[in-house]
Amino acid sequence: MGKPKISQTDPVFQQCISPSCGATYGIDEVRVACSKCGELLDVVYDWDSLRVPNSLKTFEEKWSRRDDPYCVSGVWRFHELLPFVPIRQCVTIGEGQTLLLPADGVAEYTGLKPGRLYLQYEGLNPSGSFKDNGMSAAFTHARFVGATRAACASTGNTSASLALYCSVTKLMKALIFIGSGKISYGKLSQALDFGALTVQINGDFDDAMARVKQVSQELGIYLVNSVNPFRLEGQKTIMYRVLEALRWEVPDWIVVPGGNLGNSSAFGKAFYELKQLALIDRMPRLAVINSTGADTLYELVERRGFRWNHGSPELDRAILYYDEMDAAGRRADTIASAIEINRPVNLNKCIRALEWCDGVVRKVTDEQIMDAKAKVGAGGLGCEPASAASVAGTKLLVAEGTIEPDQRVVCILTGHQLKDPTATVAYHTTDQDQFNKVLGSRGVRRAAFANRAVAVPNNMDEIIKAIRLYG
Ligand SMILES: *Cc1c(COP(=O)(O)O)cnc(C)c1O
Ligand SMILES: [Zn+2]
Repeated sequence: MGKPKISQTDPVFQQCISPSCGATYGIDEVRVACSKCGELLDVVYDWDSLRVPNSLKTFEEKWSRRDDPYCVSGVWRFHELLPFVPIRQCVTIGEGQTLLLPADGVAEYTGLKPGRLYLQYEGLNPSGSFKDNGMSAAFTHARFVGATRAACASTGNTSASLALYCSVTKLMKALIFIGSGKISYGKLSQALDFGALTVQINGDFDDAMARVKQVSQELGIYLVNSVNPFRLEGQKTIMYRVLEALRWEVPDWIVVPGGNLGNSSAFGKAFYELKQLALIDRMPRLAVINSTGADTLYELVERRGFRWNHGSPELDRAILYYDEMDAAGRRADTIASAIEINRPVNLNKCIRALEWCDGVVRKVTDEQIMDAKAKVGAGGLGCEPASAASVAGTKLLVAEGTIEPDQRVVCILTGHQLKDPTATVAYHTTDQDQFNKVLGSRGVRRAAFANRAVAVPNNMDEIIKAIRLYG
């Protein structure tokens, strides 16, 4: 594909998020940061010169068109709200066909009234996590600029998603960087099975991230991590689907686990734009949930007052915090491997989203995460540990009175239950050694909601006795 032409009057461009810089770049440029000041970039639209529906209901018309892959896609069904390339150039493998499910059992656990808690189940995506929403958009941009290789650093799900898009579409070759011993088998098995070139380096996610940025720059490989502004455009659609399922009513709260903070950043942008376009009349509040073992956002926002300040954040606070972290040799450590990140790449976009959505940040322990995960499994689909941080965080926010029991709350279940069977089995096991190895080592003392397998001799009478006793 030839190089696309971009003129000054193009209605879509990339722009530095720092208002005092505001540098712009064409969408034909591949960048993960502003070349003038180093800040993150947004994809920005001149809505007046684009065709935007005047009511969200318009999108419902696409439901009936099952023979059009762009209507089936839960991302591209909303193309008018992320129109950075024409629809016929967009890449889809059927992502975003996900569900919003009311879950009263889980609501009760969090202290919310019946009918007030919803779970947005992104585990239904083709690769089993929300990452596919962003990958379809990043892939679309990568093809647009003529890339032939795409890379990412990953705690697992980004690599699974990238590897899948490469294997299905054959548009690009996948290069994946992972840390040593920090990736769950569910996710690693996907990357390997889909045929990605997988490079395991000595270090954790933060190391792998730093390395992949260098390598992509050096070799001109397209980077699909969430520093890529186009990826976040795809992730906006998770919020459109939440609204769609609520008949276009804005919920009171969106609660999401925070790792690299791509989702929280994308959600804030989604609502900000909808409000600008007068397609919604109010903003929901946003709660981002860290694990205590990877709590940079919590520390910076809730303890050290790090704020977006309408575009003038005190960046020194973050730099100082990272210096302290390095000096103390502190590394992220949590069972919620998808959020085991101490240097979130979208930090500044996330604090902007927190400002837009009157947001809060909380942290929850691995024990709280695993208990919440068991509750989700028992009454609301099933998820991997990181996803359950949203439910554990909701419980905390209700207990402290920040969320009221009759408010309408949407928790994002970011990844599928089968992504990390090791954590799930360790939680429910009777094998103390296995429990200690996987969970005890992370400070989990007990599994309050364990559903233990019952050991019975292979004998009819004993088996029937056990069923009567436990059933
Ligand atoms: C990537 C991921 C997260 C973290 O999302 P960010 O956008 O990086 O904050 C949380 N849960 C799961 C399952 C993930 O794959
Ligand atoms: Zn800039």
